[in-house]
Formats: sequence, C-alpha cells, structure tokens
Amino acid sequence: MARTHLSGFPRIGARREFKFAQESFWRGESNESELRRVAAQLRARHWKLQHDAGLDFVAVGDFAYYDQMLNLSALLGALPPRFGFDPATLSLAQYYELARGSAAQPAMEMTKWFDTNYHYLVPEMSPDTTFDGGVQWLLDEIDEALALNLPVKPVLIGPITYLWLSKSHVAGFDRLSLLPKLVIRYRLLLEHLAQRGIEWVQLDEPALCVDLPHEWLEAFSAAYDGLGTTRVNVLLATYFDTAAAHAPRLAKLPIAGVHVDLVRAPQQLDAWRAALPAHAVLSAGVIDGRNIWRGDLRGIVEALRDVHAEFGERLWIAPSCSLLHVPVSLHAEKKLDADLKSWLAFATEKLDEVATVALALGDPAAAQATLTAADVALEARRNSSAVVNALVQKRVAAVSAEMAERKSPFAKRNIVQREALDLPLLPTTTIGSFPQTASIRQARAAYKRGELRALDYLQRMRAEIEFAVRKQEALDLDVLVHGEAERNDMVEYFGEQLWGYAFTENGWVQSYGSRCVKPPIIYGDVYRPEPITVETARYAQSLTPRVMKGMLTGPVTLLQWSFVRDDQPRSATALQLALAIRDEVVDLERAGIRIIQIDEPAFREGLPLRTADWAAYLEWATRAFRISAAGVDDRTQIHTHMCYSEFNDILPSIAAMDADVITIETSRSAMELLDGFGAFSYPNEIGPGVYDIHSPRVPSTEAMQRLLERACEVIPAERLWVNPDCGLKTRGWPETEAALTNMVRAAKALRAKLAARECDELSV
Ligand code: GLN
Ligand code: ZN
Repeated sequence: MARTHLSGFPRIGARREFKFAQESFWRGESNESELRRVAAQLRARHWKLQHDAGLDFVAVGDFAYYDQMLNLSALLGALPPRFGFDPATLSLAQYYELARGSAAQPAMEMTKWFDTNYHYLVPEMSPDTTFDGGVQWLLDEIDEALALNLPVKPVLIGPITYLWLSKSHVAGFDRLSLLPKLVIRYRLLLEHLAQRGIEWVQLDEPALCVDLPHEWLEAFSAAYDGLGTTRVNVLLATYFDTAAAHAPRLAKLPIAGVHVDLVRAPQQLDAWRAALPAHAVLSAGVIDGRNIWRGDLRGIVEALRDVHAEFGERLWIAPSCSLLHVPVSLHAEKKLDADLKSWLAFATEKLDEVATVALALGDPAAAQATLTAADVALEARRNSSAVVNALVQKRVAAVSAEMAERKSPFAKRNIVQREALDLPLLPTTTIGSFPQTASIRQARAAYKRGELRALDYLQRMRAEIEFAVRKQEALDLDVLVHGEAERNDMVEYFGEQLWGYAFTENGWVQSYGSRCVKPPIIYGDVYRPEPITVETARYAQSLTPRVMKGMLTGPVTLLQWSFVRDDQPRSATALQLALAIRDEVVDLERAGIRIIQIDEPAFREGLPLRTADWAAYLEWATRAFRISAAGVDDRTQIHTHMCYSEFNDILPSIAAMDADVITIETSRSAMELLDGFGAFSYPNEIGPGVYDIHSPRVPSTEAMQRLLERACEVIPAERLWVNPDCGLKTRGWPETEAALTNMVRAAKALRAKLAARECDELSV
C-alpha cells in the first residue's frame, strides 16, 4: 500500500497558543523554560494528530520558535556575526534578537517565502561564513518524538534553497561558493540522524520551482552526490510549481525519492514517472496545502491508480506542501454555515484526506464510505445556489472591452481634473488610515460583542471621522481622507459586505513570528448587494470644503489576501471582484466624491514564481483593476496605492493600470525606485512616499524636502504628489501630527522655491 506523510504542520496552535506564549516571553512575563514547555506540548499534540490519522511518518523539524529558516541558520551555526552570538549556546532571548532586532542591532531582513504570505528571515552570507554547527534543537525534537515511539521523518530546508534564499552584502561575492562547506555540515547532520535510527529525511528544495540560473542547477549534483550517500534515505521535496524540467537531472542523483506538487502542477506526474529509477520513491503531493477546500478524493485516487500499480509501496501520498499555510482545524469553527463547512478541510482534516487516498488505493472497499462522503460534499458544492449567482454570471458574460477603458486618455482627463479639483502644485495627502486608537478598537470590539448598539457605534465612528477631518484641516493638507476608523482590515471590511465571502472565527495562518492573519474565504460568485462606503464618504465630505478622497480596496488585493475558489480560475474571481468595486466607484462618484483611491498593495505579490507566467497574470490583474476604475467620468480622479518598492520590473503593467495618480513606497529605498519611473517615463501622476510610516521617527522638513527635490529631478513637479508611504493606522497621533506638519512644510517650501525659480526664468 502507498505510504503517507507530510511536509509540515502549522506550529502556532489551534488557539494561537504559541503566539501568546511568545508574546508573553517577549514582555518578560514568562521565562525560557515556560516557552519551551508550550512548544513541546504543541509539537506532541501535532505529532499525535498525524499519528492518529494513520500517517506512516510524523514530520519533525517543521517547528520553529519564530521561523524555520532562522532555525536552520541557528542549527548550521551560520548567524550574522554582527550580533556577536555563539550559535552553539544560543539562548531563546538571543534567537529573538536575531528575529526582532534590539537597540544595538537591526533585525535580520525578513521577506516572503516564495509566493506565500509567510515570511522568513533571510540568512546573511559572507566569504567568512562558516557552518561549524549551532544549536541542537532539531536533534532534541527528534529525540522527543522518538521517545513517544513515533515514526520520525525529519524535514529540513535543503542546502541549495537555503543558499538561494540567503543574501550577501559583500560586492562580487558568490554565495554558491559556500556550498562545499555547507554540504559537509549537512552530511554531519544526516550522520547524526542515522545514529538515531532515522530511515528517511526530507530535504525541501522549492527553489527548483523558480527560474534557477544554470550554475545553481548544476550545484544540485555537487550537493546531492554528497548527501545521497549517507546512511539515511533522502527524499528531495519540490513544491509550489512544477519541477518536471529537472526530472532527468534529479533522477540521476543518489537520492531515494522525490516529492512533487501535483495540486499546483498535476501535469508533471508523467515526467516523474518516466524519469525516476526503479528503486525511487515518488511522493505525490495531492492534497492542497495552500487552500482550504476539501479535495476531490475520488478524482485523486483515479489519477493515481496507474502509478500506484507501478510503484506500489514506492508511491507516497502527501499534502502538496507544508500545511503551514492553512488553519489548524475546522473543529474550532462554530459559526460557519454548515454547508460551507462541509466543503472545507483545514490542516487536521487534510491529514485524514491523505490517509483516505492511500487507503482507497490499497483497499478500495475499506475507503468506500469516506470517498462517498467526499463525493457528496463536492457534489453539493458544485450545485449550490450559494456558489453560482445568475446575476453575476450575466454581468460577467456582458463584460466588454470598453469597460476597461476610461472615457479619455490620461492627458485629456488630466486637464479636466486640474480644472475640477483646483489643487496647488505638489498637492499633499495621506494614504487613507489615521491612528487606530485604543478607543476606536474598544468601540469596535464592544459593537462586535453586541454591547454597543449599531446607532451608537455609527455615531462613535462619525465622531472619529470628524476628529480626523479637523486635524487634517489644521495641518492644511490639500486632499483629505476620512481616516478608516471603521475598518479593522482592508479586506475583511469589504468582504463582510460582499456576497460570496465567508469569515472564520479561528482560521488563523502564521504570517511571521507571532503574527497571524485570518484570510476570508471566497466561496461563491462575488456580488455587491448595496453600497459599502458611500454613506461614510458622503458624511466625511459634508464636513469640509476640501476634496475628500474615497477609499477602496482593489480587486487584486481582495483576491490575493483571501482563500479563493479552486473551481474557477483566479482571473474569473478577480473579474467578479472588479465588477463589485466598479459599482462602488460609480456610486461614490454619484455621491459627489471627486477623488477615489483603489488600493492595490498586493498587486505585486500575485506574480507567479516563474517569469514565463508573469505576462498572463499581469494581463488579467491589470484588466481587473482597469474595470474596477473605469466606470467614472474623466473629471473623477482615480488613485491607487502600492506599498513596496520593488516594481521596476513590472512598471509597464503599473502604467497600464492607468490610475490618474499612484502613491508608492520610496522613502526606505531613498527614492531609488523613482529612477525606474524616470527611466520608463511613467506617464501619469505619482506620490512617492516621503516618509516611512513603519517607524515612529518623525522625519525633518529638510529631509523630506530633499527627497522631494530628488523626485523632481526624474518626474516633473506638475505630476508629483506629496504623501507618506503607507497608511497611518499603526501610528500614534503625536508622531503622526508632527510628521505631517513637517511634510506639509516641505511641500510648501518647495512650492515657494519652484515659484521663485519660475519668476527668475521669466525675468531672464
Ligand atoms: N488605505 C490603506 C491604509 O491607509 C492602505 C493600506 C495598505 O497599503 N496596506 O491603511
Ligand atoms: Zn501601503
């Protein structure tokens, strides 16, 4: 019979126990041994779940006190020397200093793990980096599991992916040159595993699913020729996309098996079947580790039947990737609609799915009842009237090319808008949110608990809006916002008002460290039954003669930060979201709102892993944005906002979104990004963020003016806006007021300077 295993289980705990344990440790309210006790408890609980589900192996090594890449760096002994820590005796307090920084040292850099919303700590490499060994936590955890008599399969990030994801700040240094040293350390580690009687180790090499340069691919042979010849069997795991192109190369390595992601890339099965040698294990990742839907178990079993006949015990069944990316268990969901709940599988339920697939392959009769139950749920989902909305279908069918076009091109709109808005040169504005004070959060919590009546809550929010408006008037900002007091989350707020969206109570997924997010679930056709923000915007505008900006979340971000349907392409869901936002945009215009901002902070992170797939994504994502924005008249100004700086490579698509104004993050990269905008001659208006809202530091007027002057060198002042680089909701009022005061001063100073220069030129 096929064997069963997994790449990893969520470590945070069903009730986010580990989040709270970490935070209490950070606050100094608990000590290291208390934190270790909670961690050990969670590990034991999660192993038991895997074992009870009947899996042939439990995963060890997927646990991390903050992040698995940081754990690996600590294990290898490759810590950034700037901290001055001895890796062999690293304490948890020191470990968290690496992750979170201290007064003496900034934290290690953090970035997204492939195309997920999980963030890892980037290893820092230099020619002096050594891998002389560090903490023994992994071995301790293995011993812990062995002591429980569990069949242990350690899971580690492989050496190539580890190096690939690392960074070096030493110019001209090729971090691949560290590979031989690294392999020696891995070999030693595998020897330690062998001594413990470990039979299999999984080495994760998701880097095989990105565009890896030739020399990095070559490096696989060098690395695995060394690793495949220890006494432990190596299962090399790929996930997040196809690795089929590398099947011939990997099949020649002295490894014992390969894991492939058949959810993201089912078409690669045949390539692996053909390439693998007669002794090799093929681990089929057939249960979706990235989404929350119950699998089509019968379909999976059918698709594997032939491979099973051929491979027998050498066919392994697993989730596609680590279950880190899905919530822990459906048990905690008491309020979800019963039908919808029956269509879902979180991590715990996915363990059972893995077991069922293996059982159905080996003993079809024994699995019949479970397969039938899955069929019934799937069938119900397919035919549910909650999923298909005839109204939406009709609208989608009627979408025309014109719907993605504004009435006139930017140059013409710009003239009309200048006249209608009558703004000064270098207009000042903010990105949308103002500080979410304790009193705002308390009011929302009380309202959610039913302790505050709807009308009282509305009044509280209106008072907050008025407060924000008066502050902005006093600061003399040109374009105002209402401050987003009523929103706790820019996706949840809209999702709650849209049909086709559902929310869980406990569907937490780790984003980084102790931080978790609770992505909503898009299960059906998305439809906006009634206006969402119009009354709020109208009220805010009624308070002031200045221009009030309407504030919306864009279709790509709504898609990107939710669990999405797997029964239609992402592009189809994006289009439905675009139509919903389009309706809102049109209604805002009708209510007298003259500037509407459609935030797309997640636009870039939707990019596929391989550049070959970028064009298709950019095409539908750009179209979705354009459809959401293009329902208005020329005189209505559309803004968008993106909060990251790496988009020189997608600038043509950003330009193709055709927003009248884009506000972006630039302050941390000291406006480097603008060079890209300059070189590309970005045609529309831009607000490069002149101060970093991620820190409470108040930048000086001079510093901001300098940044603006640099911006003027690449973008004509007529097309420049002045704003912070993101929303201010995480800031306090005192630093917000101080920073905005300086920002407005900087804009005014530069205006005066430019006006004087113009006078000079005229008089010459
Ligand atoms: N309008 C949002 C805010 O200001 C934008 C947030 C974001 O870019 N992530 O909070
Ligand atoms: Zn932002």
